[in-house]
Amino acid sequence: PTILAIESSCDETSAAVVSGGKVLSNIVATQAVHELYGGVVPELASRAHQQNIIPVVTQALRTANVTKSDLNAVAFTRGPGLLGALLVGCSFAKSFALGLNIPLIEVNHMQAHILAHFIDEPTPQFPYLCLTVSGGHTQIVLVKDHLDMEVVGQTTDDAVGEAFDKTAKMLGLPYPGGPMLDKTAAKGNPDAFQFPVGNMPGYNYSFSGIKTAVLYFLRDKTKVQPDFVQENLADICASVQNTLIKTLLKKLVQASKDLGIKEVAIAGGVSANSGLRQALQDYARKYNWNVYIPAFQYCTDNAGMIAIAAHYQYLKKDFATQYVSPEPRLKI
Ligand code: ATP
Ligand code: MG
Ligand code: FE
Repeated sequence: PTILAIESSCDETSAAVVSGGKVLSNIVATQAVHELYGGVVPELASRAHQQNIIPVVTQALRTANVTKSDLNAVAFTRGPGLLGALLVGCSFAKSFALGLNIPLIEVNHMQAHILAHFIDEPTPQFPYLCLTVSGGHTQIVLVKDHLDMEVVGQTTDDAVGEAFDKTAKMLGLPYPGGPMLDKTAAKGNPDAFQFPVGNMPGYNYSFSGIKTAVLYFLRDKTKVQPDFVQENLADICASVQNTLIKTLLKKLVQASKDLGIKEVAIAGGVSANSGLRQALQDYARKYNWNVYIPAFQYCTDNAGMIAIAAHYQYLKKDFATQYVSPEPRLKI
């Protein structure tokens, strides 16, 4: 099947075309308007989606060399995400499907992050473990089949992406903080400073404590040394990043041992982090894992991943009706 997919859950407006399981185009318009505010402003996100969606869809069809009449279905992100943002993609997809008289497919954004591993070779073998790390989620997911997944552990408070973004903000780095912190960390010593992280039972996480730990650490240091942050920026970034990565991987190692699974993947925006990507390679050697790391364009939000999820749903005739509405808290 040839499917047009739309992603509009947060602050990227994206459209992609998949045909026979091959992603032919993946156009992403990142909304710059939020930079002014240091975070995503929901109302502005909805408006920007409305402005971007037609050009982005047009571009996706053109790049894929596909016309509307070639399409067999239209897919969109139903959730999780911001309600107003999701509504734009959902309404657009519904009208498009209705106008062309083709099926509509509703996709779960978190399943899609995980299925991004089926866009390019090599693809993981089932069952595999996927550490999904993004702006709103931190989960260890047992993936039994394309559309059969179970969350075995997750954060009990903040997502790890939030920990990256908030610490970056405290350090005065521009929004979005995660990628900037990553870049700065590359020049620092990861063992320069120690930060405590909460230990949760099972395969669960807690990342809210590290924000406070960094806040107090900076307050105490700058009291005696006003230029502390400027003089130690790279070391602080490297140390925070190192702490977050070690915490993430500790539970992943535990889950891999307990479940006896050596197929291990990462997904979501934070899987673009260079420290995490490197650490996963190191763990692969140490624990004899086969690891899967998405290409950069499929880490942060994109419609390519929605398209590949829709491809598998199409094969199962998992279609939505015109009555479907967005679900901001949709679960796996
Ligand atoms: P969710 O998928 O949970 O709904 P989201 O869609 O907003 O949330 P993504 O687009 O998947 O999240 O990921 C965005 C997050 O990834 C942000 O927190 C961002 O800072 C983080 N991120 C992106 N690149 C990097 C990087 N190189 N290092 C660390 N964090 C990064
Ligand atoms: Mg984003
Ligand atoms: Fe996402």
